Amino acid sequence: MEKELIVTDVVVIGAGPAGMTAALYASRANLKTHMIEKGVPGGEVNNTADVENYPGFSLVSGPELAQHMYQGAMRFDAVHDYGDVSHIEVAGDLKRVHTSSKVYEAKAVIVATGSFHRHLGVPGEEELAGRGVSYCAVCDGFFFRDKEIIVVGGGDSAVEEAHYLTQFASKVTVIHRRDELRAQKVLQDRAFANPKIEFIWDSVVEEILGTDAVEGVQIKNVKTGQTSRVDAQGVFIYVGLVPNSEAVKDLGITDAEGWIITDDHMATSLPGVFAAGDVRQKHLRQIVTATGDGGTAGFQAYQYIESLKD
Ligand code: FAD
Ligand code: NAP
Repeated sequence: MEKELIVTDVVVIGAGPAGMTAALYASRANLKTHMIEKGVPGGEVNNTADVENYPGFSLVSGPELAQHMYQGAMRFDAVHDYGDVSHIEVAGDLKRVHTSSKVYEAKAVIVATGSFHRHLGVPGEEELAGRGVSYCAVCDGFFFRDKEIIVVGGGDSAVEEAHYLTQFASKVTVIHRRDELRAQKVLQDRAFANPKIEFIWDSVVEEILGTDAVEGVQIKNVKTGQTSRVDAQGVFIYVGLVPNSEAVKDLGITDAEGWIITDDHMATSLPGVFAAGDVRQKHLRQIVTATGDGGTAGFQAYQYIESLKD
């Protein structure tokens, strides 16, 4: 089947906070802009219950914030297309962005594909996924009313989601591989003050136990080498992020782990290809930095396209 050809100025890949802001800035600069998303616009924000660190909203639900961003992104005639981008072909100044049914020919591309949750890679994890093993408290927390839950990890996600899960669970046990959390202090303080949350320190999960559903985990204390079993009906895994950069892996614009390297203008080493948001190699992965990146990338795409006219 021949793919439908769409000719445009800018293609934005991904409609999370970074992609939606990039689409807003590019379309408002009068560029013909196509924003391609393989899921629901909003990205990770859709999986966040409460956002309390995005300026302009003292407290807002993730899906509500995503909806506001989407409305803003569409105001200046950007086109939102459903599609899963497989790869980008570079043909001189033109870039061809491929999905299974369409090819978009554009002068500039902004990659805003974010990241996904790292898996632990232990026995039982894949087998019991959806049967007690989860990576999304907002999606699945409700199923664990009055049940015992384990959260694995010590970063912002693990600590924030552990607190969120206490509204459903009878008890939440956070298992962390060190004796100190990585999470922001405000999130730590809230978790330490929550009587439903317990911590198991210096321990890693070796196996998730259960046949038809999660029954618990086997853990090992990394200091003493001692193993033990912790019973629970749910295991929520928050052990960091992996970049969604498969579509650009052959372009030579990523580091060894797959994060896209950019300069301050969100430009990659490939002229006309920009990146924004969590998929970039960066220090702070937040909604506010993703939108900042998106604005910069949208503006720089405009500058780049103008420079082609010289
Ligand atoms: P994403 O939000 O990940 O969006 C990327 C989009 O690209 C997705 O919609 C995806 O479907 C799409 N995509 C990927 N690959 C393709 C492809 N090949 N083709 C088409 N589309 C594709 N930050 C805060 O500031 N405050 C918080 O309270 C907060 N809470 C969080 C809670 C959790 C549990 C997590 C995991 C993160 C939280 N964050 C929070 C971080 C914040 O969600 C991210 O930093 C932000 O969403 C990054 O935006 P992004 O647009 O770069 O990526
Ligand atoms: P993260 O900050 O990378 O933290 C991952 C945690 O998992 C760390 O505590 C790490 O331990 C642990 N870990 C990693 N690999 C492990 C393994 N194999 N086994 C056991 N533990 C392992 O990831 P995150 O918490 O998902 O956060 C991702 C980004 O989103 C961050 O930039 C964060 O700031 C942002 N975010 C922000 C908010 C907010 O602002 N409210 C909320 C959620 C997320 P070590 O500490 O020992 O490395």
